[in-house]
Amino acid sequence: MRFYTMLREGREIPCASSDGQVLYPIPSVASINDLISRGVLVDLESLKSASENADDPLLKPLPLAEAELLAPIPHPLQDVVCLGLNYASHREEAARFSDTAFGGERPYPIFFAKRVNTAPGPEGTIPSYPGLVEKLDYECELAVILGKDAFGVAPEQVKDYIFGYTVLNDVSARTLQTRHKQWYFGKSLDGFTPMGPCIVTADEIAYPPALAIRCRVDGELRQDSNTENLLTTIDEIVSMLTQGMTLKAGTIIATGTPAGVGMGMQPPCFLKSGDKVECEIEGIGNLVNYVK
Ligand code: MG
Repeated sequence: MRFYTMLREGREIPCASSDGQVLYPIPSVASINDLISRGVLVDLESLKSASENADDPLLKPLPLAEAELLAPIPHPLQDVVCLGLNYASHREEAARFSDTAFGGERPYPIFFAKRVNTAPGPEGTIPSYPGLVEKLDYECELAVILGKDAFGVAPEQVKDYIFGYTVLNDVSARTLQTRHKQWYFGKSLDGFTPMGPCIVTADEIAYPPALAIRCRVDGELRQDSNTENLLTTIDEIVSMLTQGMTLKAGTIIATGTPAGVGMGMQPPCFLKSGDKVECEIEGIGNLVNYVK
């Protein structure tokens, strides 16, 4: 199943779809966060008939092509958990850009967080912050969404905690990221975490995910890899963190980006106003955003 959030006459409406053709509003939940944290099970057949017979016109089915989509989780409950330098190819290009910031031995995974007040959805804009941000960059990533609270999870149990997957662009201001010793500020500006177009539930994707992951800027292919190339796997990420911290239902984990970001190009080439950024993962969809 696929979960979406659409905006209809100013209201954020959580929806389900089997094939991404028609969206069926889910009236029993306030949001996709609500659906996940309460463990609400959706039966698409009963949802179809309920929405077709709904009195409220905002709760009627709508073809995807006519829907204004938001991020599937427009307002994450907590900061997004991120992995840094989690593809070997990206580790090399990042160290070439700045050995001080990204080089050296990294025997353990790099975890950091990203504040996300509101995640831009498909067709949403990425602000460029003239005067504050000089080196604006993209990072196409597979995001994992947990379906239940996780603590002390063994690697072989991790897959049972996964609700689904989406595409996330870990937009980064390289100057801010590297001049501060922590990456938090340079990754957390408003509008820096586009997500979508949907969450595909875990049962629809073979585990561990081995999915083509690509990014295009103005049609030019920049990133082209596969999620099977993660250095620290999803099993390892969730198991390691939950040895000492609870990851709540609804937690979003951005698993890192492959080579091909702007700072890795020779010479580096950053985003500018008007650019079209497409982040695509096989089986999930293409997340398109424009730099403003
Ligand atoms: Mg990243």
